[in-house]
Amino acid sequence: MAEPLIFERSVTGRRGWRLPPSDIARDTSSPPVPAEHLRRDPPALPEVAEFDVVRHYTRLSQQNFSVDTNFYPLGSCTMKYNPKLNERVAALPGFAWLHPLQPAEHVQGMLQLMHELEQLLCAITGMGAFTLQPAAGAQGELTGLKIIAAYHRRKRRRRSTILIPDSAHGTNPASAALSGFQVVQLKSGPNGLIDLTELKHKLTGDVAALMLTNPNTLGLFEREIRAICALLHERDALVYMDGANMNALLGIARPGDAGVDVLQLNLHKTFSTPHGGGGPGAGPVGVKASLEGFLPLPRVRQRGARFSWADQGRASVGRVHGFYGNVGMLVRAYAYIRTLGQEGLSRASRVAITNANYLKAKLHGVLSVPFDDPCLHEFVVSLKGLRAHGVSAGDVAKRLLDYGFYAPTVYFPLIVEEALMIEPTETESKQTLDAFVDALQRIVEEARTNPDVVRRAPQRMPVQRLDEVKAAREPNLRWSAPKSLAAHGSQ
Ligand SMILES: *Cc1c(COP(=O)(O)O)cnc(C)c1O
Repeated sequence: MAEPLIFERSVTGRRGWRLPPSDIARDTSSPPVPAEHLRRDPPALPEVAEFDVVRHYTRLSQQNFSVDTNFYPLGSCTMKYNPKLNERVAALPGFAWLHPLQPAEHVQGMLQLMHELEQLLCAITGMGAFTLQPAAGAQGELTGLKIIAAYHRRKRRRRSTILIPDSAHGTNPASAALSGFQVVQLKSGPNGLIDLTELKHKLTGDVAALMLTNPNTLGLFEREIRAICALLHERDALVYMDGANMNALLGIARPGDAGVDVLQLNLHKTFSTPHGGGGPGAGPVGVKASLEGFLPLPRVRQRGARFSWADQGRASVGRVHGFYGNVGMLVRAYAYIRTLGQEGLSRASRVAITNANYLKAKLHGVLSVPFDDPCLHEFVVSLKGLRAHGVSAGDVAKRLLDYGFYAPTVYFPLIVEEALMIEPTETESKQTLDAFVDALQRIVEEARTNPDVVRRAPQRMPVQRLDEVKAAREPNLRWSAPKSLAAHGSQ
């Protein structure tokens, strides 16, 4: 049954609480708000009791898939279980109640945490310095590209091209274009990796940087990464690495050691912040030591046991976020990294890789696996074979909801037809992975014998197929009060 709006639950006069009448006389001599700024009608708020509110929102939350309720193999997004401990730590009053305008002497603990987090990220990635300001992976990309532009500007030359493989996440070309660069696409080789011949061919004197993802969006490690970096450096062009897939590399490989010059991390993916529905994230940017001067300001500085803000630096690309970024995510990432330690982080990546390869092996024969080398933390299957039955990747994804699984990423990367991109993460058990394989097996069987049931999926969800672009194309930003409320409001 569809849950009505909270406004539709409104009953005139119903209250969640009642205060006793005030025994303090009202001071009418100097009203706190001048009369002309006072509204004439009370706001049309729903009139509901506390339990109406609790039940309404609890019911809505139960209509959702979440990492806390279901397996969520959404490729590229690393929807792993987020330990509740991190939430407890981030909610400690000493962190949660800080105000960004407090003087540095009042917030030494937070500054120390940020400083230590920068150092931990340097140790994990092999980069020389980090900024924690960017609020998402995509904003990290933008920041990194601004740094690359500033690097070439300082050398007093114009470089306007960014090379990007055709398997890249859509944010990569978008960030490059927004930073004023031309994007030139690199066609992937038959093994799904960057093709060195193609790279050499496109590596003109106008190339400012190569923007690559490693492991790439097919879940494959760019084995030639050192040679690739060397090629770019020969022409004094830089290598930007989209580090959103760092979940596969922790304690195993460090991008800085391979020659990467600039990278962003997605703390909300790799270092466990709940990040569904566009919630707050953090996309710190790391650079090699020689590029440190370009990082955004202010930066945290340590002098002896004291921490302060350093806001001077002529080469800096400037501020990229109000105050210091989404600091709540920084606390969670710090708690996660310190809880697991070096051993634990490395084990997390190894288990993520094992889980993905286990799933891939089990799905062999059920679905087609176009790039079949051993994968890292995720892999891509193609459902092209189901086209003959009139069933698409999108249909299979919707049908998985009926079986209690959130759908994998569909139709991405663009170089695989009818793609399903599956990322099981390290936090899932063998039983869950087996149950997922079982569900996919059944759905493929249904597609052959009873394709309609797949095409009409989901059938067991509160809503069926929504018009996915209507909300974006025709946003309804006006809610009109039901008559009963409007009448009450003007009393
Ligand atoms: C998630 C992701 C991004 C974008 O990160 P946001 O935090 O969503 O902006 C970029 N590249 C890759 C490979 C990703 O998986």
